[in-house]
Formats: sequence, structure tokens, C-alpha cells
Amino acid sequence: MSSVFDKYEVIVGLEVHAQLSTASKMYCGDSAAYGAPVNTQVSPLSLGHPGTLPRVNKRAIEYAVKIGLATHCSIRRENQFARKNYFYADLPKGYQITQDKTPLCNDGYIDVETNGQKSRVGIERIHMEEDAGKSTHDQDPYFTLVDLNRAGVPLIEIVSRPDIRSSDEAYQYLTEVRKLVRYLDICDGNMEEGSMRCDANISIRLKGDTILNQRVEVKNMNSMRNVKKAIEFEFERQVMMMEKGERLEQETRGFDALKGVTLSQRSKEHAHDYRYFPEPDLPPVFIEESYINDIRSKMPKLSSELMSEYMSIYNLPEYDARVITDDRDSAFYFNELLKFTKNYKAAANWLLGPIKSYLNENAFEITEFKVSPHAISELIAVIDGGKTNFATASQKVFPEMVKDPNEAPLAILERLNLLQSSDEGMIKQLAEEALAKYPEKVAEFKGGKVGLMGLFVGEVMKASKGKADPKLTNKILSELLA
Ligand code: MN
Repeated sequence: MSSVFDKYEVIVGLEVHAQLSTASKMYCGDSAAYGAPVNTQVSPLSLGHPGTLPRVNKRAIEYAVKIGLATHCSIRRENQFARKNYFYADLPKGYQITQDKTPLCNDGYIDVETNGQKSRVGIERIHMEEDAGKSTHDQDPYFTLVDLNRAGVPLIEIVSRPDIRSSDEAYQYLTEVRKLVRYLDICDGNMEEGSMRCDANISIRLKGDTILNQRVEVKNMNSMRNVKKAIEFEFERQVMMMEKGERLEQETRGFDALKGVTLSQRSKEHAHDYRYFPEPDLPPVFIEESYINDIRSKMPKLSSELMSEYMSIYNLPEYDARVITDDRDSAFYFNELLKFTKNYKAAANWLLGPIKSYLNENAFEITEFKVSPHAISELIAVIDGGKTNFATASQKVFPEMVKDPNEAPLAILERLNLLQSSDEGMIKQLAEEALAKYPEKVAEFKGGKVGLMGLFVGEVMKASKGKADPKLTNKILSELLA
């Protein structure tokens, strides 16, 4: 059934603020650590008192160059900082030091895959700036509480081109951005704690049109799901307005996550005039070619590169490669595991199977997982050596390894008396007994009911208390039934 919405498409550009995980702030030495008691990381420099002078955090520049290289941007050599003036209680200086006309990174892109569809989202610019403090409006009935620990913490602002065409694509784009900053280890990417925040510029147009209509900016969303929902809500709202012939105003809106709606915050008439001008207290920063090359040479492998390595060198299916590389720490664990085993598929199966389930059940991160990649490789080796099978290994041995990561898989098998037997004589005897027990089934098997093999193997396994090597048991039974 076609609806009025089918005629339109949504046009989205995203601005992502990511907090850089440096030890100190962007323009002074105050700690940038998260979670300290309120207003304890605030020197006169953070407050911009008269007589203080900012200076640039070198590590923050390095991090910004890294994200620029990872997003295929060109890196500007001569960088100027600018003052963006506005008044707000959590902005102690009365202005934010940012970059205006000379963003550090320009004209890059991020590749995204949405429901199997590949697309390229242009990056217009990435610039460096500082964060404001944090205002809390709902803790006190009369006052707004202000914590200035965050004031001056380094941010990068990643501004995409309006290349995004659906809420799903926006979600995937944000997933990629988060993966990038995590792989580069420049930001923890934790949206709930506010280390990544997103503004969305949203407009609509009739499919086939090339013009850009008036857009609405939805500010300060702190979850990818909210961004997706805000885009879906705005699309419907704007289509309904256009269908009614109403004129859409350029405005800033906020997203109410509880109601799932966007609400107007200010219209264009009330838009800020930031009166940007070059920051007089900071000299321009010149970036040399050799500095960029040095950073380039130390860039870690990113998820896309690891994913293609897993597929081409280690022959893993695309699904496995994707899920492992979705999370940087899983990929790092897997890289270690690959050093100790040649059975790459088994390694992937262990990581995506028993290890992932264990972590999910206990709400652990893989960084909290105590069993070493080497111990997992030993477990794979004892299975491949016929000393146990996957079922016993995952159900009996693995839980013991989790309890005591120092006990080797083989030792656990011995202690629990689970060592699988490859004793041909013993298995042959049990196999003969099993077949003798079911003469009619043997006849049926020989008549073509080959599915009965499971029954015979099960008998031998039972008689051996689960210790008979299933592969060898199968082989011996086949010989006896031939
Ligand atoms: Mn900004």
C-alpha cells in the first residue's frame, strides 16, 4: 500500500561531538578525568580568569590528526583557533575556544553498510574545541547546579555532509564513528556518559528533487537510538507540514526521549550570533608533513582492515569477521588467540559461542574476561587431539576454566575424569555389545535406515560414560556394520 510518505526522502547531516580521552584539558593542565567530585578540576585557567593564558594540548592535536587520517581527510597545515561568544552559566569564560574558518581536517568520508547496502558519507570537516561545563536543572527546585569539571575538556566535532538518506543509515554511520574512535583509542565512545553527543540536521524533499529544503536541527542527543527515532519523527512531521502547504521554519529542536518527539527550542529569529573572531591568546599551530607521517605510521589497524584480513588470510566467513571486529577489544582478544592456534574457525567459534554467551550472561566486557587466549588455544588443541569433544569442552571444561583461569584444560579433563578414550579395543568391544543389543535395528540399518547410526553411537557413549571418542566410535561402528 503506498502512502504519502513514499513520495519523500529524508536528508540528514550529523554533527558528532566526541570527547578526547586525554589526561588533561584542551587549553590547560587541569585533569580531564570523568567522575571526579564536582568542581574539583577547575583552576583559574579553566575559568578563564583575567591574566591567565591558554595553551594547546599536544595530545589532543595528535588524536584529531588520527581521526582525520582514519576518515580520509586532508590535514590543514596552518591552524587557527577562534572564539565563539555566547553567554551561559556553564561557560565560565563567556566564550568557547574552537576552530571556525580553519578546521584541522577537511573533505573526508566514512563508508557505511546499511542492511547490506554500501554507502559513502562525506565528512565536511573535523575541528578541535573545548567542552562547556555541565548544568543540572532537576536536582534543586530553585537553582540550576553547575559542575565545571568538564569545562575545557577536549572535543572533536565531526561534521558530515548531508549524505544520509535514512534513520538506519544514520544509526550505522554513528556505529562506524564510534568504532573508529574506539579503535584509534582517542575516545571511549560512551554515549550514555556523554563522551559522544550528536546533533542532526534534518530536512525532506520529494524524491528526484536535487534542491535542499529548509532544515531543522535536533540538538544534543546522547544515544544512537534517540538519533534514529528523532529522524523518523522529523520525517513524518515535516512531510505532514509540507502536504498541508505549511512553511517549515529553520529552527533548533530538542528530542524528548520519553515521548519520542522533537520540540522547538528556538527559531531563526532567536538564533545566536556568535561573533567569531581569531583567538588572540593562542598562536596558530603549524603542522608539519613529518608529524603527520609519523602519526600515519603508528596508526593501529582499523575494523575494516582487520575484517578483510580475517576473511582473506584466516578464511573466516564474513559474518564471523564482522561480529568479531564490531568491538575493538574482541578483535584484540581474537588477534592474540590467532597467535596460538592454527584452527582459526574453531577460534572464531569459541569467541562467538561459549565466550560471548558467558560474557552476555554475566554482563561482562571481554576486557574483564580472565581466561587467556593461550588457555583457549589449549582447549582447542585438546579437542583437535581427540582428548575431548566440543560438547564436553564447552559444558564441562570451559566453566571450570572460568572459575580458575590458571588450571589447564587437560588438567581439568583429568581431574573430572573426562579424558576421552581413543582406546580402539575398548571402543570396539562396547560397539559390538551395542549392536548385539539391537539386532532388529541393525537389520533396519543395513536395509537403508542409516539415521540409526546415532542410536548406536549414543549407546557406546553411554556405556563409556561419555569418554569414547565420537569420531573413532563412528568409524568403528561403520566398519562393524559394513
Ligand atoms: Mn561544537
